[in-house]
Amino acid sequence: MKTLVFVGGGHAHLHCLGQIKKDPLPDCRVVLISPSLHQYYSGMFSGFAEGLYSIDDIRIDLRCLSESAGARFIMDRIVAIDPAAGQLTGANGAIYDYDLVSFDIGSDDSIPEEMKELLSPNKPNFLFPDRLLQLRKSAQPIIVGGGAAGVELAFSINAWRQEQGLPLNTILLSSSPLLSGLGERAIKSAEAIAYRKSLNFFTGYQVEVIDRGSVVTSERQAFPFSDLLWAAGPASFRLFEDAGLPTDEKGFLLVTNTLNVVGHPEIFGAGDCVTLEHYPGLPKNGVYAVRQGPVLWSNVKSRLASEELASFTPQKRFTSILSTGNGEALLLNGGITLHGRLPMKVKQYIDLKFMKRYKKIYE
Ligand SMILES: Cc1cc2nc3c(=O)[nH]c(=O)nc-3n(C[C@H](O)[C@H](O)[C@H](O)COP(=O)(O)OP(=O)(O)OC[C@H]3O[C@@H](n4cnc5c(N)ncnc54)[C@H](O)[C@@H]3O)c2cc1C
Repeated sequence: MKTLVFVGGGHAHLHCLGQIKKDPLPDCRVVLISPSLHQYYSGMFSGFAEGLYSIDDIRIDLRCLSESAGARFIMDRIVAIDPAAGQLTGANGAIYDYDLVSFDIGSDDSIPEEMKELLSPNKPNFLFPDRLLQLRKSAQPIIVGGGAAGVELAFSINAWRQEQGLPLNTILLSSSPLLSGLGERAIKSAEAIAYRKSLNFFTGYQVEVIDRGSVVTSERQAFPFSDLLWAAGPASFRLFEDAGLPTDEKGFLLVTNTLNVVGHPEIFGAGDCVTLEHYPGLPKNGVYAVRQGPVLWSNVKSRLASEELASFTPQKRFTSILSTGNGEALLLNGGITLHGRLPMKVKQYIDLKFMKRYKKIYE
């Protein structure tokens, strides 16, 4: 009997767990190890911040999902990997053996080392909902990072504050233009919506120093804050580098198009925690983490059966739908830009469908 361990309840692993019941693995014990009972769906964090969703709406019960699939759930955080021994170490020293292991643990905060003591962490992602509840009612909230996450959350928090009669004083600080990773149209649309909704945003401002009550930027401007959320992009956990596994220069686990680690046929990875050797610039987002699920599942099965592995080919274009608060969203797809209630309805439909796919397995 072999042991297959899934580390982290990320998107690609949800897919694998969802498949086991339909397509059981012969002579294989399956274990999921994740540090929280729940996997939170980041696509719904903005709706949660705005008050559209309850905490139960945005999370999947990993124990129930695993057990319904015939897998064992262990609540633990993996802190070390010993590839030579085929062992993982948990936060309290427990040792877990594996024959085959897959990592889908997401990414860490990119808070600079010298600022870590002053800011509350948001990652792993089960910490995020509590951080949002704290931030949205804070006297002077600041969000650092003008990417999709920072923009969505700034709009959503202001929408919630409007409902509660609180001042619309959320500040969004970004070193680059808002949504710059999504192209010129996205930048123009995001800025126009921000002006229309009176969102205080400052672009071209690099955070240099944070002290207990204020942020000082490269422009020598000081912004006082009562709570600050760092949403300036993903960083890697140190786990892979510490284990001597192949990584990119930032410490993300390096995998081939088969989601397998070079030189380690028994180690796979997917989602934000990996970098694809042949697509090093691929953005780290939930879209690719979801798309990698079926290839990961197929390849894990093939490896157990000593068959050939399939390749993951990232799609060139994808549709982004970003919540902009007040029940509205911005849809971007190539040349198409659409803002208003309709894109938000589409987003809600897609997000609820995603959640239902997994919840219906155990509910
Ligand atoms: C506010 C916000 C909004 C976003 N909106 C979108 C969006 O609309 N569309 C989009 O495509 N992307 C979005 N993203 C990005 C998206 O969240 C990530 O790219 C995506 O969650 C990555 O998925 P994943 O499967 O790699 O990991 P995650 O979803 O982060 O899951 C990782 C899992 O691993 C567990 N874990 C972590 N460390 C360990 C460990 N050491 N041992 C065991 N388990 C561990 C975690 O608890 C978690 O269960 C958003 C991000 C944020 C912050």
